[in-house]
Amino acid sequence: MGVLRVGVLGAGVVGVTTATELQAEFPTASITIIANKFNEDTTSEIAAGIFRPSPSFAGPTTEITSQWIRDSYNYYDALRRSEQASRAGVSQVSGYILSSVDPSLVQNHFLERTVPLYRRTTEEELKLCPGNWKYGSYFTTLVTECTKFLPWSLERFKQTGGKVVQKTVTKLQDLEHSFDIVMNCTGLGAKHLCSDDKMVPIRGQVIKVYAPWMKTFFYAENDTYVIPRSDGVILGGCRHYDSSDISLSPHDRAAIKERCFKLIPSLQKARVLQEHAGLRPHRSVVRVEPEVLGKLKVVHNYGHGGYGVTAAPGTSKHALKLVQQLHLSTYGHSKL
Ligand SMILES: Cc1cc2nc3c(=O)[nH]c(=O)nc-3n(C[C@H](O)[C@H](O)[C@H](O)COP(=O)(O)OP(=O)(O)OC[C@H]3O[C@@H](n4cnc5c(N)ncnc54)[C@H](O)[C@@H]3O)c2cc1C
Repeated sequence: MGVLRVGVLGAGVVGVTTATELQAEFPTASITIIANKFNEDTTSEIAAGIFRPSPSFAGPTTEITSQWIRDSYNYYDALRRSEQASRAGVSQVSGYILSSVDPSLVQNHFLERTVPLYRRTTEEELKLCPGNWKYGSYFTTLVTECTKFLPWSLERFKQTGGKVVQKTVTKLQDLEHSFDIVMNCTGLGAKHLCSDDKMVPIRGQVIKVYAPWMKTFFYAENDTYVIPRSDGVILGGCRHYDSSDISLSPHDRAAIKERCFKLIPSLQKARVLQEHAGLRPHRSVVRVEPEVLGKLKVVHNYGHGGYGVTAAPGTSKHALKLVQQLHLSTYGHSKL
């Protein structure tokens, strides 16, 4: 019996966290990342990267989803506290979520149980931004800049003996001779690869501006957000369900600017650095489960929608447990 061979299909935030966690858990295994896109070509690089699961974000059960969120937060927070924090692109940020219509919009049961601070705003704080804000919360969370996190993780993976192959895979079974187990972290690619009709692209667009005076994040209605990072401030956003168009829309650009400038008027003088559009790989229930396809064992880990940066380390940890179960049921401890 030789060395355990694991293929990680996908090099977005889900693939790279799965691969680096696999290395830590199975140090003797041979691990290869296979992907057709890396770093700036992935959806992950477009993400604002704030740790903020929607209350509607769902795994198979509430208990499992809560565990994913806790595990993810602990993973990023440990990185933030380490000397690698700035190279890995992880930092702490605090800010507001505001609503003029619905108090439930400023509540978040995942965050309230996870982050170090989550409290209701004071009356004075509700007057910080123009508008008739009635409800608000202030909280402290994390931001992970995938522009740094992906290349840093890939480098760490290679230095620890991991292999990286650039290739398009059209059928999972094509990998059965090369690997004992394949981790399917293909995001929206899984829609075709697994004929998964539950996968839906949700189009988003963001503008990165130079506004170094912004130190606090703001969320408001209509998917409006302003998120300060080390490389600029991300202004968003929009959510177009079942839209696959990744060209930049002048209408979305105008709408994002209008909403963000109304919320924070000083942003009108900010210089535009970059603009991006991308497709969130949405699935009503994120798929983290094993499947046996002929001779190939697969562990799926995809469908994180608008919360892949937030949840990737947690779902990857879950996927690793499934690898252990699949593997032990076949080989016992012999290849571990
Ligand atoms: C505008 C916008 C803002 C966002 N903001 C946030 C945020 O603030 N916080 C947050 O948590 N999330 C955010 N997200 C969501 C986040 O970007 C995604 O959930 C996350 O990137 C999904 O990661 P992934 O690794 O599954 O997919 P991807 O990053 O798309 O990676 C998929 C990988 O699989 C590979 N692949 C796919 N199919 C194949 C194939 N057939 N053969 C070979 N390789 C294949 C691709 O090449 C790629 O390497 C945002 C998304 C958008 C669009």
